[in-house]
Amino acid sequence: MRTKQPTVEKKDGALYYRAWDNEVETKDDGSDVLRLPKKVVDDLEKKQYGVYGHSAVQVCGWTKKSIKDDGVCYKQKFYGIECHSCMEFSPAVMWCQENCSFCWRPMEFMKNIEIDAEKVDDFKEIIDNLMQKRKKLLNGFNANHGANMEKLKEAQDPSHFAISLSGEPTMYPHLDKMVEYLKTLPKTKSIFIVTNAQIPEFFEKLEQNPQAQPTQLYISLEAPTKEIFNSVNMSLYEDGWERLGKSLDVYSRLDCRRLVRFTQIKGLNDKDEYLENYKELVNQGNPDFVEIKAYMHLGMSQGRHTKEQMPEFVEVVEFAKKLANYLGNYDYVDAAPNSRIALLRRSDSKYTVHLERYENQ
Ligand code: SF4
Repeated sequence: MRTKQPTVEKKDGALYYRAWDNEVETKDDGSDVLRLPKKVVDDLEKKQYGVYGHSAVQVCGWTKKSIKDDGVCYKQKFYGIECHSCMEFSPAVMWCQENCSFCWRPMEFMKNIEIDAEKVDDFKEIIDNLMQKRKKLLNGFNANHGANMEKLKEAQDPSHFAISLSGEPTMYPHLDKMVEYLKTLPKTKSIFIVTNAQIPEFFEKLEQNPQAQPTQLYISLEAPTKEIFNSVNMSLYEDGWERLGKSLDVYSRLDCRRLVRFTQIKGLNDKDEYLENYKELVNQGNPDFVEIKAYMHLGMSQGRHTKEQMPEFVEVVEFAKKLANYLGNYDYVDAAPNSRIALLRRSDSKYTVHLERYENQ
């Protein structure tokens, strides 16, 4: 194994992890597979991730709360997913082609823009192993920790898959096949994917194969202009902005529930002068829903933004209503104060906010 440890460097006052070379391990059958350096795996495990190869799973704080009957996440409130049975994971936990300034995850600052399709784990192998890892992470819970034992039992077999966590999931070249596989599992009710939309070919694959479309597909959209995209999202592709535009075009034609997630960074991307730019972008992607979410001053992002740039809940609601008014064809429909998030729905969307077809799809 070649090993090159990631090191932290400071650039413009911000902390970045310098990239390491991808490591490769030769399996018994002679095939080479991508692996993370041991130091990175140890670091992730210390942070309560379960790691398998280039993939990882974590038990979300909201899942833990829900198992203890202590609240549910906004996705249960808005859409009706089962928070206690949610499996949040990533098939490319340390690979991302963007360096978003607002990202609070530990180490997404890779210099890799491609993952060799010949050197990745099989999608079924990833899911099976991450499910085992997740069960181990849930092991610590019992009635003594205030767990609702019925929910804990149900939580063992996930009904909701949140393919987001850390890293960019569409960099895993078989994500479409993975979604198809997840749909065959008897407990599956919903699958959500969050992407930075830097791989338009992923959307093309979904267009050609509706069976590979998740229940809900999110595109992260924070920049009203190319200039702000370059300073906030910092794509490693020279044509990152154009890639986003191309993805939005294909995305607008997909049949699944489509969402745009906007992270509001106070005073940076929420100025009135940008409303027209957002209108153009939203019209281009034509999502069923728009989530407006406050930037949170956490983790690595603290070196890049100030605490004052974190909007209060009332400021999120104010911006969401302003945007809905400006867009004209979207209604302000809900909000979750504890997550500082507001939701808009396109007036002529065929989808209701709550998942109407809450069954294996
Ligand atoms: S849907 Fe998201 S916020 Fe809710 S429990 Fe799953 S990972 Fe956490």
